[in-house]
Amino acid sequence: MTFDVRDPSPAERLIVALDVPTIDDAREMIDHLNGTVSFFKVGMQLLYSGGFDLINELTASGKQVFVDLKLLDIDNTVQKGIESLTAFNPTFVTLHAYPHAMRAAVEGKGKIDLALLAVTVLTSLDEAGLKETGYKDTRVSDLVIKRALQAKEIGVDGIVCSAVEASMIRTMVGPELILVTPGIRPASAAADDQKRIVTPADAIRNGSDYLVVGRPILKADDPKLAAQQVIEEIESAL
Ligand code: C5P
Repeated sequence: MTFDVRDPSPAERLIVALDVPTIDDAREMIDHLNGTVSFFKVGMQLLYSGGFDLINELTASGKQVFVDLKLLDIDNTVQKGIESLTAFNPTFVTLHAYPHAMRAAVEGKGKIDLALLAVTVLTSLDEAGLKETGYKDTRVSDLVIKRALQAKEIGVDGIVCSAVEASMIRTMVGPELILVTPGIRPASAAADDQKRIVTPADAIRNGSDYLVVGRPILKADDPKLAAQQVIEEIESAL
């Protein structure tokens, strides 16, 4: 059965971030969550230590993969990079929301069934960080909105944003863009280093389509039960 990114089931809206040190740790977690979680995010840490084999294993067993590489380079390199990534059949691939990179990625994707997600402004950047980067008098929220609108205009499929911003962004960009939100914490979980957290149910009510959850599941006494509880919350809010 093919996966429709525009029509996920409640369980398919949960993406577990495989933020673990080794491929073997990732395999163990995937096995433990089998039957409950079918969508996994693989980021730089695992990708640079054998993660591409893991992606092949996940897709071969019918799972969805979010490749979180946050690409940014000259147009030709972004285009060719996306073309190469299509061989791994990922469902989502991230890139920074720079207009030239987004255009190149859309070109590289062609008609391939893969959703490009743009990261507008890293949530680790505040106004002072933007200024240090060379932006003068730019508010983070203004830049988030500007880049979200550019992403839509260019034909990128969705954006990664804080669930706190999701309802504002949904209002600005309309229903088509897929909104993927990290910083999710069930009411009973610790905030860890996330500053702006939202419960799974509130994230869905704010307009999120997919929730990225790491530590509240990875570090739970029973990760499978924690995942089931997130899915129940998603279901209750839909
Ligand atoms: O453990 P936790 O649930 O905080 O993990 C969230 C995941 O989402 C991590 O993989 C983190 O890198 C990612 N992420 C984030 N904030 C962003 C973008 C990505 O927390 N703005």
